[in-house]
Amino acid sequence: MEADEDFVLDNEAAEIQRLGLPEEEKKPTDPEEEDERIARIEFLCSGCEMQEMVHYFGRKPPFSLGIKYPEDNYVMRDPFQPPPPRWQTKAEYYISLGANCSICSKTVCKDPGCSFYYTATFCLPCGQDELKNWPVEAQARIRKQLSASQGNKK
Ligand SMILES: [Zn+2]
Ligand SMILES: [Zn+2]
Repeated sequence: MEADEDFVLDNEAAEIQRLGLPEEEKKPTDPEEEDERIARIEFLCSGCEMQEMVHYFGRKPPFSLGIKYPEDNYVMRDPFQPPPPRWQTKAEYYISLGANCSICSKTVCKDPGCSFYYTATFCLPCGQDELKNWPVEAQARIRKQLSASQGNKK
C-alpha cells in the first residue's frame, strides 16, 4: 500500500537523522569556507616529478569524515566532483596522491614506479636498500615492482 510505504520511508528518514552525526553548526558561507576549497599545498613527486596542488597534508583530512591514514598523506579533493551539499553526512570524494618516504622523507606519489608501501611508504631507492630486512613476501612484491618500473623507463 502506498500510504504505508510513505510512512516507512518517513520513519527511516527520521531514524537516519536521529542516528546521524551531530549536525554542524549552521554558518553562512563565509570567505574562509570558500578558501578551504582552494588547494594550497604543493605536492611534487621526487620520482616522476608529478606536480599538483593539494588541499591537505596529514593523517586525518577534515573532509574525509573519519578516515585516518597510518601516515601523513597528501590529499586532494576530487576536482571533478561538486562539493557535497551542506547536509550531506557522506564524505566527499578525495584522492591521496602520495606520502613522504619513511626513510629519506622525499615526497613520492602512489605510482608503483615511484613508491612502495610496506608498513610505511618508501621511495623505490630506499625500498631497494631496505628490502633485505623484510619478509620474503614483501621482498618478492617490491622486486617485481622494481623490475616493472625499470622496464618502463623511457
Ligand atoms: Zn611519482
Ligand atoms: Zn626514500
